[in-house]
Amino acid sequence: MTIPHSLKSLQAASKNPNHLSTVFLLSSSSSSNNRLKNFAEMEYSGDEFDVIVVGAGIMGSSTAYQTAKRGQKTLLLEQFDFLHHRGSSHGESRTIRATYPEDYYTPLVLQSYKLWQQAESEIGYNVYFKAHQLDMAPANDKVLHAVVESCRKNSVPVRVMNRDQLDREFSGRIRIPEDWVAVSTEHGGVIKPTKAVSMFQTLALQNGAVLRDNMEVKGVERDGVRGGVWVCTENGERFWGKKCVVTVGAWTTKLVKTVGGIALPIQPLETTVCYWRIKEGHEGGFAIGGDFPTFASYGDNYIYGTPSLEYPGLIKVAVHGGYPCDPDKRPWGPGNPLAPLKEWIEGRFSGVVDSGGPVATQLCMYSMTPDEDFVIDFLGGEFGKDVVVGGGFSGHGFKLSPVVGRILADLALSGEAQGVELKHFRMARFQENPKGNVKDFL
Ligand SMILES: Cc1cc2nc3c(=O)[nH]c(=O)nc-3n(C[C@H](O)[C@H](O)[C@H](O)COP(=O)(O)OP(=O)(O)OC[C@H]3O[C@@H](n4cnc5c(N)ncnc54)[C@H](O)[C@@H]3O)c2cc1C
Repeated sequence: MTIPHSLKSLQAASKNPNHLSTVFLLSSSSSSNNRLKNFAEMEYSGDEFDVIVVGAGIMGSSTAYQTAKRGQKTLLLEQFDFLHHRGSSHGESRTIRATYPEDYYTPLVLQSYKLWQQAESEIGYNVYFKAHQLDMAPANDKVLHAVVESCRKNSVPVRVMNRDQLDREFSGRIRIPEDWVAVSTEHGGVIKPTKAVSMFQTLALQNGAVLRDNMEVKGVERDGVRGGVWVCTENGERFWGKKCVVTVGAWTTKLVKTVGGIALPIQPLETTVCYWRIKEGHEGGFAIGGDFPTFASYGDNYIYGTPSLEYPGLIKVAVHGGYPCDPDKRPWGPGNPLAPLKEWIEGRFSGVVDSGGPVATQLCMYSMTPDEDFVIDFLGGEFGKDVVVGGGFSGHGFKLSPVVGRILADLALSGEAQGVELKHFRMARFQENPKGNVKDFL
């Protein structure tokens, strides 16, 4: 049997776990400069990479796939087991929708649809399941108006419906108050998150990347002799990379502070996904594959959900947001308040979804910026363009991970991202205004 290069690397690493730490021990008694010089002089034979990606959630896995596919020797490091449930990218469903009030996300979503399809055709299975998207809000809601405008500007067709039209459209399965409107677009759907992370990791591996888990990165140091960076792990291993991409989700503030001394306002939040039982006989009307959409509701709370898919007979309805937490000392509960959700389900689903309480819940983490826009930028300082940061995906990044991976790979490999405006994602925006980007619709 032919073993692909990447599998050989994995096997070599596991057969000889000491080969890198031996080098580290040789160097650890020297001063920092001598240590780096020794590495250079001894023609370090350990692993050297074009790109080292730190953090194997959806963003890091997608980035590693992109760089490996472009023929770059790539290392993907993860602090826990691969596909663990302690970050943001695990679970059974994420919404993809083009309905953003900020018009700069919609083109990225449209690109992402194509990139999801491309990755699916390379791997040979599906992670995306099609549905329409339905957004609803009071008729005077500024966010919904901005959504419609942004869709029109980006040539995404929208249908605006009042209460009666919506009643007819879904035969009463979704109801809105009289002074509300609903906006339907055909660009919706569900992505399977854990399966998608696994897909990108497999594709990265197939393209020659080396994947190592249980490798907590404690520091990234500039190599003042050769250029590039040293990435150091908790267990004493060190890897040299021409470039490094940091995609550590809710740990971004901690690691960026350690490495670059920059205080980013990315707040980890613990949030709860809730599944509710559809009453007997009505399950089919809420299932994916029919006309039931992915949905979002604005107003006092942003409530979102997906058609029944992962657990037959249950529907996901949850609130956007959560409790501030330390990702290393998680509270694991009590979860978001249920009262707004119960009321919403009672009012929107005409009593055919049991609003008594969720029958299943799952905890997850957001990494929230004050303006809910992403951070995609060079770390700068002594690292210049050698370290790229992708973080702060604020509870809405999953759908965009294929395009974010492409952008992060572009930034690492060529110092710029072709055809995309990144000004809203700069780190410096928080120095100019602690609240970040100003949004007219808020
Ligand atoms: C409940 C919930 C619902 C969501 N719904 C949607 C949705 O419907 N649509 C949508 O588009 N988005 C949604 N999102 C957002 C989306 O899931 C996230 O934006 C996305 O998963 C963020 O991925 P990430 O790779 O940045 O973070 P993570 O998945 O957390 O990955 C970061 C990884 O870095 C690792 N790491 C951290 N520190 C280190 C270190 N020092 N060394 C090595 N590894 C390290 C972590 O262990 C982790 O595996 C939702 C999120 C949640 C929690």
